[in-house]
Amino acid sequence: MAKVLAEALKCIGRLAPSPTGALHLGNIRTFMIAWLSARSKGGKVVMRMEDLDHPRDKIGAADAIYSDLRWLGFDWDELFVQSKRRDIYRQALKSLDSLVYPCVCSRKDVESAQSAPHQGEQLYYPGTCRERFRSWDEAYEFKKAKDGSLPCWRFRVDENTVVGFDDKFCGYCEFNVSKMLGDFPLARDIDGAGYTFACTVDDILMGVTEVVRADDLLNVTPAQILISNALKAKGPSYCHVPLVIGRDGRRLAKRHGDTRIERFRAEGVRVEQIIGYLGYTCGWCQPGEELNLEKLIPRFSLASIPKERLVCLAGEEKDFFNTYRR
Ligand code: GLU
Repeated sequence: MAKVLAEALKCIGRLAPSPTGALHLGNIRTFMIAWLSARSKGGKVVMRMEDLDHPRDKIGAADAIYSDLRWLGFDWDELFVQSKRRDIYRQALKSLDSLVYPCVCSRKDVESAQSAPHQGEQLYYPGTCRERFRSWDEAYEFKKAKDGSLPCWRFRVDENTVVGFDDKFCGYCEFNVSKMLGDFPLARDIDGAGYTFACTVDDILMGVTEVVRADDLLNVTPAQILISNALKAKGPSYCHVPLVIGRDGRRLAKRHGDTRIERFRAEGVRVEQIIGYLGYTCGWCQPGEELNLEKLIPRFSLASIPKERLVCLAGEEKDFFNTYRR
């Protein structure tokens, strides 16, 4: 009993949507696993709107996300909005001191310096600006003259930096960050914290103990662990669950058909049908069983979730919520 209580007191999970579009079945499956993971331990849930990505953020998307999530039965104990926390990220960046440095390379410079093609969206940086400037001001003047923009801030990754961690779903994972990423960027400028950095700072400051998210973010984790270590924080545990994809193997998106929650809401699909279906894909219920999130709490288990990414055929079917019952 004491052990269960102690675990409940210290467990804090989080939902961290980006307001880049409407929520679809893929997002909800991941949020459902994250929410249930925390609630099944009696833990708290933090809601964090990750709205730092201006060109991709859409007006009204954050409110639509809260509304869909509430409709589906999600709740949270605290709410944070990243765009209101820029001072915090600036201070955190400054506290890293000599572990970061300003870089004046453009994306094109970095791309053309690639010695070998690297996988994924992350670019390898060979450290061109590592010892180039004595101060931010010097880099600032240089970059202003070069193309009128601002330098970015990079994290210094020592040679042969290998980061290993025990992922709660994927098992032990190890990445050679020096080879894979090199000195990775933290912020576009002193006020322009990017996702990797802001997310790590927030997970620390919000006391998040477990990060449960889709496996497309697995390769960001080593950088986040290095940042946590540099900030002298313990950091959360990580659990990367299989991403929901379309038939073509790519992350579920509009092109795969309309799987937006707001569409199902408008068409009169019941919450219990959606949660029941998603619970079924995780091995927690029978096909066709209808139930809500609360009812899934005692059934939550990572062990029954299939290891493969879930291929979602919704939107290609006339009546999706009848189709899966066949
Ligand atoms: N905001 C990120 C996204 O929607 C997720 C961040 C995270 O879970 O670490 O892709």
